[in-house]
Amino acid sequence: MTDLLDLARDLDAADPLRAHLDAFAEAPGVGAYLDGNSLGRPLRDTADRVAAFVREDWGTRLIRSWDEQWMELPMALGDRIGALALGAASGQTVVADSTSVLIYKLMRAAATAAQGRTELVIEAGNFPTDRFMAEGVAAETGMTVVWLEPDAVHGVTVADIEAVVSERTALVSLSHVDYRSGALADMPAITAAVHGAGALMMWDLCHSVGVVPMQLDEWGVDMAVGCTYKYLNGGPGSPAFAYLRSEHQGVLRQPIQGWWSAADIFAMGPSYVPAGGIRQLLSGTPPVLSMLAMQGMLDLIEQATIEGVRAKSRSLTDLAVRAYDEVLAPLGVRLLSPRDAELRGGHVTIGHPDFREVTQRLWTEGIIPDFRFPDGIRLGLSPLSTSHVETITGVLAVRDALETRDR
Ligand SMILES: *Cc1c(COP(=O)(O)O)cnc(C)c1O
Repeated sequence: MTDLLDLARDLDAADPLRAHLDAFAEAPGVGAYLDGNSLGRPLRDTADRVAAFVREDWGTRLIRSWDEQWMELPMALGDRIGALALGAASGQTVVADSTSVLIYKLMRAAATAAQGRTELVIEAGNFPTDRFMAEGVAAETGMTVVWLEPDAVHGVTVADIEAVVSERTALVSLSHVDYRSGALADMPAITAAVHGAGALMMWDLCHSVGVVPMQLDEWGVDMAVGCTYKYLNGGPGSPAFAYLRSEHQGVLRQPIQGWWSAADIFAMGPSYVPAGGIRQLLSGTPPVLSMLAMQGMLDLIEQATIEGVRAKSRSLTDLAVRAYDEVLAPLGVRLLSPRDAELRGGHVTIGHPDFREVTQRLWTEGIIPDFRFPDGIRLGLSPLSTSHVETITGVLAVRDALETRDR
C-alpha cells in the first residue's frame, strides 16, 4: 500500500501553486480545512485591507468615495470576475445582493419575457434556494415547474434536457457543479440543447466560479448567478454576482427596480426608467464593505490563472479519490462523486451512515469537512488554500474516526 502522506508531500513539492498557500491567514488548531467550498478562508492581508478601508476610503474620504470609486465598484468587480473566471467580456457581470435574490430577479425577468411559454425546467435535487425561487416565480406568473430527476452521482446530461424541453419551455435553470455530488454539467452542450428548443438558459455557478474555467460568452449562456464567499473567499455573506448577456440587457426586465437600477440614479425623477447597461440588475445601495475581501482572492486567481487553479483542483480531488479507494472504501464508505476528474468540480463527496457523528467529532478536533444531509461528507478542496498533505490528513482523520467510533 502506498504511503499516502509521502505521496501527498511529493505532490506538494511539485505543485506550481504551493507558494499561494502562505497567502491565507493561519487558523491555529485547524489540521485540515476541507470546507473552502462553503466558506473560503480569509487571506492574510484581508484584515489590513478592511482596516485601511475604514481609515482612508471611508474614514477620510467620507461620502466623496462614492463618486471617487464606490459607484462603479459593482460593475468594475463584476467585469473582473467575468474576465478572470467566467469567460465574459465587460459590461455583462455585476456584483449585488445575494445569490438567492439574483436568482429571483433573473428567473422572474425570464418568466415575464416568456411570450406564451409556460414551463420552468429545474432539477429536483438542486440547491433549495434555486428550487424555492422557481416555485415562487411559477406561482406568481402562472407557470409550471418541470422537475428533472437525473442520476444522483453524475448529474444532468444533454439527453435528460432533450427529453423535457419543448416549445413550452421558457427557462432551464441548472447548477454548473452540483452542490452535493460535485458533478460538472456539460455547459456548452446543455446550453445549445436548451437554445435548440428556443428557451433561455440560466446557470448557477456557486460551486464552480473560481475553480472550474468556463466561457459564458462563447457558449451562448443567457444568464448566470454565483456566490463570492465560496471559492472567491469574499467572507460570510459577501454579495453575489449576476451575468446577463448583453443582447438581453434592456429586453429582459428585472422585477426589483430600485433607484440604483435607474437610468439616472440622482435624477430623483417622477417615474422609473431602467439603466441601459448591466447596472439595470442592481436595486439598492451596494454593500461596499462586503466587497473588499474578494478583491485579494481575485488578485491571487489572476496570478495563478483559472486554468492553473483547475489543474491543482484536479490533482487534489484525484488524490482524495485515490485515498478513498485505499482507506475508506474498505470501511464501507460510498463514493458519491464522479470518478473521472473531467466530470467533477472542486469537491469530493463520500457517504456513510455514521458521518453525522463523525463530522461532529472531527470539528472538535480541528478537522473540518462539511456534512450534508442525510449521510454525506463533502471534502471541499479550495485549490489555492489547500495542500495535498492537508487533503490526506483529512481523509486519514475520517478513517480514524470511523475506526474508533462507539457502536
Ligand atoms: C451556496 C449556494 C447558494 C447560496 O445562496 P445565498 O443566497 O448566498 O444564500 C445558492 N445556490 C447554490 C447552488 C449554492 O451552492
